[in-house]
Amino acid sequence: MLGVARPSATGPGVNVLAGNLVPDGMRPFAACYGGHQFGSWAGQLGDGRAMGLGDVEGPAGRFEVQLKGAGPTAYSRRADGRAVLRSSIREFICSEAMFHLGVPTTRALALVATGEPVVRDMFYDGNAREEPGAIVTRVAPTFVRFGNFELPASRREVPLLKALADHVIAEHFAELGEPGPDTYVAWFAEVSRRTAVMIAHWMALGFVHGVMNTDNLSVLGLTIDYGPYGWLDAFNPDFTPNTTDSREGRYRWRAQPSVAHWNLSRLASSLVSLVGDPAPLNAVLDQYPVWYAAAWRARLSDKVGIDLGDHDDDLITELFTLLASVETDWSIFFRSLAEVPRDGDRFGALAEAFYSPPSEELRRRWSAWLAAWSVRTGGVDIEARRRRMNAANPWILPRNWVVQEVIDRAEAGDASGIEALLDVLRRPYDAQPAHVRIAGRRPEWARNKAGCSALSCSS
Ligand code: AMP
Ligand code: MG
Repeated sequence: MLGVARPSATGPGVNVLAGNLVPDGMRPFAACYGGHQFGSWAGQLGDGRAMGLGDVEGPAGRFEVQLKGAGPTAYSRRADGRAVLRSSIREFICSEAMFHLGVPTTRALALVATGEPVVRDMFYDGNAREEPGAIVTRVAPTFVRFGNFELPASRREVPLLKALADHVIAEHFAELGEPGPDTYVAWFAEVSRRTAVMIAHWMALGFVHGVMNTDNLSVLGLTIDYGPYGWLDAFNPDFTPNTTDSREGRYRWRAQPSVAHWNLSRLASSLVSLVGDPAPLNAVLDQYPVWYAAAWRARLSDKVGIDLGDHDDDLITELFTLLASVETDWSIFFRSLAEVPRDGDRFGALAEAFYSPPSEELRRRWSAWLAAWSVRTGGVDIEARRRRMNAANPWILPRNWVVQEVIDRAEAGDASGIEALLDVLRRPYDAQPAHVRIAGRRPEWARNKAGCSALSCSS
């Protein structure tokens, strides 16, 4: 993609990726941004530990290459600019997994252990300890976030705001034409549409980002800043893996579409001075729920193997009620649904999806639902239906407990699990029987374990 060869283990390339070498012609930079964190304006933030190295023009286009965790920047405030190995492994594996799942995302090029300890208090409870440090090299066309626009807008620095908008449009949205009020609105519409599509992907996969602050939303509609993210193991619409947010649940799974909408409204406010009139920006905001609903319906249609219409609302409502009635694994359920036979024991095909056996009453309701679903899919060839569903419902995801096993091994000195897991995750929609253990339900030991269900922003 970049047209760059994998560096040798000891050459200058590794020193660049470790933040120890700035070759001639490279001008590293950190970007300044602000953001709304958990609903409140947090003022200036900026890349506290991300360093852009510059652009690479490769066979697949031009990409920005960025180190995360290479040390203090102009915007580190009082923090150290470093990152720990556990969170770096999580970003490295998950961002690559998302790419192979077909979700718009930043990517990870490299992971370097620094050999230097970093002190973190993982759960902010007075138990600070030394952890191994690491640097992830990230790649994206740009890392510009909503917060990059919010900061100059908050300071009424209109020329700077305009320069940023014109730059982003010229570099990444050239098809929208010359800068001007109409172009800014068209650009905001495109950001909103892409955000809706990205969120629909997250929802369909059961991905919970965990920290959807406006500084963590990309203007390209890419999933960015992998922190205390998680996956629905058992379906629970109120699930968030982020312990910092466990009381309020602001960024829980089911809140993500509306949080994205709210974040877009923050971006819209930042653009009013460029457009001169809030009305067209508000009109775009009114469109967002329509774009989201269409994107979600498309994803859900593929998941259940039916082209859903309004007349399917009862079927879908009952599905979500049943999924929430007894702990049911979100991913395994949909994968199993594709195997439900036309006749005979339909319910039996779902056995793997349940964390505990459903009651008699629930079994009856499931059977009734499966019968209705089966009738609805009636005309479709069963093999074609399975192909469609399996292309939308991953066989494997980088579940937190699986990544945590890899982290535990890496912290103990064996990093081989990282690439081994990544290899499996490169074909997430293919059944890979040799790896069935890590594709299965979350084991009981992982239910409340740190790093598996409980994560914090500490990284
Ligand atoms: P995050 O929650 O990782 O998205 O980070 C929120 C803000 O804090 C971002 O602007 C980061 O650049 C900054 N930040 C997070 N961790 C550090 C750190 N260890 N040193 C400096 N800045 C940091
Ligand atoms: Mg961030």
